[in-house]
Amino acid sequence: MTIAKTCDVAIIGAGPAGSVAAAILVARGYDVVVLERQRFPRFSIGESLLPQCMDVLDEAGMIDAVEEAHFQLKNGATFDRGGARAEFDFSDKFSLGWSTTYEVQRDRFDKLLADQASEMGVAIHYCCEITGCDLTSEQPVLSYFDADRNRGQLSSKFCLDASGFGQTLANLLGMVRPAEWPSRESVFTHIVDHIKPDAFDRNKILITVHPERHDIWYWLIPFTGGISSVGVVGAENALRNSDENDEAVLWRFVSETGLLASLLSKSESHRPCAGIAAYASNVERLFGDKFALLGNAGGFLDPIFSSGVTIALRSASLAADCLDHQFRGERVDWEKSFAQPMARGVDTFRQFVAAWYDGRLQDIIFTDRQHHRIRQMICSILAGYAWDENNPFVAHTERRLTALANICRIQ
Ligand code: FAD
Repeated sequence: MTIAKTCDVAIIGAGPAGSVAAAILVARGYDVVVLERQRFPRFSIGESLLPQCMDVLDEAGMIDAVEEAHFQLKNGATFDRGGARAEFDFSDKFSLGWSTTYEVQRDRFDKLLADQASEMGVAIHYCCEITGCDLTSEQPVLSYFDADRNRGQLSSKFCLDASGFGQTLANLLGMVRPAEWPSRESVFTHIVDHIKPDAFDRNKILITVHPERHDIWYWLIPFTGGISSVGVVGAENALRNSDENDEAVLWRFVSETGLLASLLSKSESHRPCAGIAAYASNVERLFGDKFALLGNAGGFLDPIFSSGVTIALRSASLAADCLDHQFRGERVDWEKSFAQPMARGVDTFRQFVAAWYDGRLQDIIFTDRQHHRIRQMICSILAGYAWDENNPFVAHTERRLTALANICRIQ
């Protein structure tokens, strides 16, 4: 398929943010071209979704395809710290909305969303890497290398950067800013888990805290077919002995846990271990008069609450809506209608991440005398409802978390 020279909206990257923004826009009658650097399916980290993102998949017309794909159902989260256990069921949450979602292998999930978008009429070109952008002319122009390494240019009325950790536009425009917390890293793999059916509720993600070093934690994300994703997260340089490879690091840390080590005692490798470091990032601003940054292209917080895809889809929905109004000739205030609404939910997650690592949130989660209504409010955030201003933990996150942690510590 030849790549068009012009379109209404050019999108960099066909991850969840890119495909969903493209689908919403094409359904509203716009001509959308997506340029994706890799060939799909491709591996990506970020496999545990939150119920909140189901609304956006619905809005994009993709919910039926996702539901029919037989991914592992997810209805909550279990936390384990040195034998203390806390379980959250998303059906018992404060906010209205979806109580279930899925644990997804991202190669399958991202291809499914991209294929849905193409079926709706989006032109997606794979193995096309954006290498430059010119915002000085009337329309933004993206320069790329196509699959045959030929150079090309795509001019559009507006450009959405959904290039994930690549942060293409922010890098090209010098807008990347340092993240606000210490650099962390993660080592992970997929396993044939051989977990006995009665040993573990596969409908829940398991988050395990290292028994002594509480800033080190692990995920166990079950998929269908007896496969699971397992990973460990810690401060950069805190995980690795100098001569250790990824596999040695991951399994040494797993062996230091109780429940997780026992659950995985019979597991076998399904894909090689891999690592990612220094993934937290920030940007100077989320939009300009000819572009907006979606999902990770606009920054990334931390994996602890599985919020990445949810934030990516939320940004796709908000930006598509702003563009629709703008193309219809209305004056759109991107600060008010895009950046501020994004910041509200992201700030809630940010405060939860900070409280997780400084110990306040862990003390809240692991207390055994939690008021039911308060637990429902915490559960809502864990389900991704970080934009629900009716929840006091959204409206006054920092104050509420500190006060509650103090109460839990006195008990
Ligand atoms: P991506 O999914 O990264 O897609 C970006 C696409 O852009 C890619 O396909 C890439 O090839 C393409 N691209 C990049 N550069 C270019 C270029 N120059 N030209 C063309 N194409 C380009 N999130 C969750 O929701 N749940 C989790 O459980 C979770 N776990 C995580 C664990 C770890 C250790 C980390 C680091 C992150 C985790 N995340 C999780 C976050 C999640 O991975 C991301 O937030 C999510 O993938 C962002 O989606 P996106 O659409 O913005 O970008």
